[in-house]
Amino acid sequence: MVLEVKCPTCNKLISWTPENSYRPFCSERCRLIDLGEWFSEERRIADENESTSQIAALQLSPEDLELLDQD
Ligand SMILES: [Zn+2]
Repeated sequence: MVLEVKCPTCNKLISWTPENSYRPFCSERCRLIDLGEWFSEERRIADENESTSQIAALQLSPEDLELLDQD
């Protein structure tokens, strides 16, 4: 019995066999589409992290505020 899985990109049923080098995808096209979505998602997360660190850099620590008071 051959295991059948659904292609994550197009939901087409494919056979999970060693011959299918694109598994769990049905084709190279679907594999690349999924990879592309993954990369764009990564970029979105990286952008969020960058803006978060910029906000953190703007926040002053209690020590910084003491220095400002002395000035
Ligand atoms: Zn597919």
